[in-house]
Amino acid sequence: MQNLTVKLDSCSYQINFIDGSEETIFSELSPYTNKKICLISDRHVYKLYGKNLNEVLSKKGLNIFHYEFRPGEKHKNIKSIMGLINFALARKWNRDDMFLVMGGGVTGDMGAFAASIILRGINYLQIPTTLLAQVDSSVGGKTGVDHKAGKNLIGSFYQPSKVLISTSFLKTLPLREIKTGMAEVVKTGVIANKKLFHDLETFFSERKLESYREFPDPFWTELVFESLLIKSQVVTLDEKESGLRMILNYGHTFGHALEKLTGYSVYTHGEAVAIGMNIAANIACKLKICKQDVVERQTNLLKRLQLPLLPQKKISPDRLLECMMLDKKVKSNRLTLILPEEIGKVRIVKDLKIEDLRELLKELK
Ligand code: ADP
Ligand code: ZN
Repeated sequence: MQNLTVKLDSCSYQINFIDGSEETIFSELSPYTNKKICLISDRHVYKLYGKNLNEVLSKKGLNIFHYEFRPGEKHKNIKSIMGLINFALARKWNRDDMFLVMGGGVTGDMGAFAASIILRGINYLQIPTTLLAQVDSSVGGKTGVDHKAGKNLIGSFYQPSKVLISTSFLKTLPLREIKTGMAEVVKTGVIANKKLFHDLETFFSERKLESYREFPDPFWTELVFESLLIKSQVVTLDEKESGLRMILNYGHTFGHALEKLTGYSVYTHGEAVAIGMNIAANIACKLKICKQDVVERQTNLLKRLQLPLLPQKKISPDRLLECMMLDKKVKSNRLTLILPEEIGKVRIVKDLKIEDLRELLKELK
């Protein structure tokens, strides 16, 4: 399998596809043989993979420590960051020591954020273990934690020295975690990768998502590779999210609003994004930006992946819009939406009038 390079003005780094074995991870750590390494994970991931890795790396002579976060988004806060920073500083961390961050998006965001601020920034290596983190959050350099006032309001842009991807970790994920990652994969297909979308349609025409543990390895590797290829190209062209990178927000303007309105407890991120993509595609169709066929293909694929298309309970367009207007990306009563033109191509539609959008939302069933 080919590796990928994310080329940025500030730095460049590799995304390496590996087999996930302790030996391979050890060989990727060769620049740090004389340094302190902190293996950071949450309790679940430590039990499943971290403990073994820790033992093997210690036996091989690495100076390894480990730190566990409490699992779950509710612990994604500054207090958890301080716990890790206190731990490292008590062990006399130096600027050339490193963090080895292994886990889902929550661990990834926090480990990376802590790496970005401790001693004004140290190296970190990212090993994403959920599908969502592998196809999305591990690349792009967004790090951070939540605040009482909202999600991800504290953070920084900070790039890893390397990302290691092994799809072998996906086998232990619960089905709902697979689904949430799949929504981001579908998103990537719709915004910029026709082939990926088509491959998914073919693959799932005869398979059920429930049997994901039996899916062949090359299927997973290809899926993660094709998703990251697009993400790394977009991030390379727009490191700090000023233009093109907005296309990665397809389905997210509605999705984020829905997550917020339902208190982050009804839908996973991917489920909310699936609903958001369905709303966006329907609006695009009504505005004659895409043909009905685009909506149908997306609908069918999302259904095959058991992702929702509309909220279970009707949410009033007024509440949805009100919530969208609070988004940090909304400017002066006009909304920017990412709408599909065809599978593999989206348009950034600026200056959509709120009133027009309200009418369009009312028409959705
Ligand atoms: P994300 O934002 O990527 O969905 P989280 O960091 O919230 O991720 O992880 C979701 C849950 O999945 C957490 O409870 C975490 O411990 C668990 N988890 C992460 N990776 C794996 C894995 N490979 N197998 C099983 N559970 C995992
Ligand atoms: Zn997302």
